[in-house]
Amino acid sequence: MKFQQQWGHKLPELCSEVAPTPLRGGRLLYLNRALADELALPDTETLQKSAVWWGGELLAGMRPVAQVYSGHQFGVWAGQLGDGRGLLLGEQQLPTGDSVEWHLKGAGKTPYSRMGDGRAVLRSTLREFLASEAMHGLGIATTRALSIATGEELVQREVAEPGAMLIRVAQSHLRFGHFEHLFHRQQVEALKKLADYSIETFWPELACESDRYFLWFADIVRRTGTMIGQWQSVGFAHGVMNTDNMSLLGLTLDYGPYAFMDDYQPGLIGNHSDYQGRYAFENQPTVGLWNLNRLAHALSGLLSADKLKLALKEYEPALMAAWGERMRGKLGLYAADTQDNDLLIELFTLMAREKADYTRTFRLLSYAADSDKGGLLRDEFIDRPAFESWFTRYQQRLVKETIDPQTRQARMLAINPALVLRNYLAQEAINAAEQGDTTVLASLHAALQNPFAQHLDDSALAKPPPEWGKQLVISCSS
Ligand code: AMP
Ligand code: MG
Repeated sequence: MKFQQQWGHKLPELCSEVAPTPLRGGRLLYLNRALADELALPDTETLQKSAVWWGGELLAGMRPVAQVYSGHQFGVWAGQLGDGRGLLLGEQQLPTGDSVEWHLKGAGKTPYSRMGDGRAVLRSTLREFLASEAMHGLGIATTRALSIATGEELVQREVAEPGAMLIRVAQSHLRFGHFEHLFHRQQVEALKKLADYSIETFWPELACESDRYFLWFADIVRRTGTMIGQWQSVGFAHGVMNTDNMSLLGLTLDYGPYAFMDDYQPGLIGNHSDYQGRYAFENQPTVGLWNLNRLAHALSGLLSADKLKLALKEYEPALMAAWGERMRGKLGLYAADTQDNDLLIELFTLMAREKADYTRTFRLLSYAADSDKGGLLRDEFIDRPAFESWFTRYQQRLVKETIDPQTRQARMLAINPALVLRNYLAQEAINAAEQGDTTVLASLHAALQNPFAQHLDDSALAKPPPEWGKQLVISCSS
């Protein structure tokens, strides 16, 4: 394992060197072995000897820094934020020549902790771990999670909870908020340097283009649109889409009070402190563009207003393309037809009225598409005539497809997951882990790595959520 610390070296104005504060009695609770393999890490026995997981050791080349950024929270300028409890340990140089950042979350106080204690609790650490791996399993760009450590320390939230640390891995932790920070402070040169660093490091193909800032920003716009289009297709509500939680690279970042929806509810609010529903599921596309406008404003020293506006125009087509492609795939419609949108909207209307489970509806449709009357999917609906009327039109539409039914079914099963990370599933893994039992976490994590596997259809994980599970309130304390 080879590490370096480019960020601290190249952008000292955007960070402070901080050593982690180890968790008392720290131990590695869970390791993502599949990711460890992708990162070419040593065997688990060797890794278990290290204390890096709970801040007790630094690996050769690591030089931890806390990054500073600012941002808009719930639509309002919040000023300076920054890594209040996370540290960028360093960038790992992979044998492939790529590099990935290791970020230790829950690592203790930093100059940006404000009123916080610098810690994270096991509950939120496990939620972030599972959600990011679930997102990866669904083929959506995200930060990854390598490890969970815990210890003897209790951390005070609404109640005292076990403290924990997460090692998060990502190509970059660059946020919209980094640019907003420098813009607000009128650090024009530093902002240009940050833009150049981003381009050289993550968009090297643009480095020699005369129009590089435009091409770069347009790509950020497209990536953001694509990510949000994909979130909408799997029923994911992020919960806290503040600009400091928006990744420049279009990665899903900073999992807090998120939700993968159970019943289809376009107005779903994941975060119980979001009283006005600013970050409700159906508002995410609009919020994404609002956030990009804040970034555009911060880049106004690099690009003319016309160029910024031109780049922002890429958002809606990128979002609609990503969403449309996934939704068409979910319905098994591959040849374009002008009526397809109506067919989808009618299904959504029916689902919303009947509170149909989002994930199960599409999974069952994959099996039912070529059945006589809608197979098991039909049983999910109380208003049978309404379902049958939709289903008849759907099958009439399928006739226009040239694909054979087996191939369609295989393709639909590969895009409609049997399993998403429902809040109650995460909660069951948390309850067990808080008692020292990681088997629930391990089996859920294993399933989420391939949520399309057909053996899952017979497992409890693919069953409808229990009533208590639908009513979980997710606090934003973490
Ligand atoms: P989040 O809502 O987790 O994205 O956090 C928003 C901001 O609050 C970030 O600057 C975090 O680093 C900071 N923060 C959250 N929790 C804590 C904590 N327990 N201690 C210090 N800073 C925190
Ligand atoms: Mg954050």
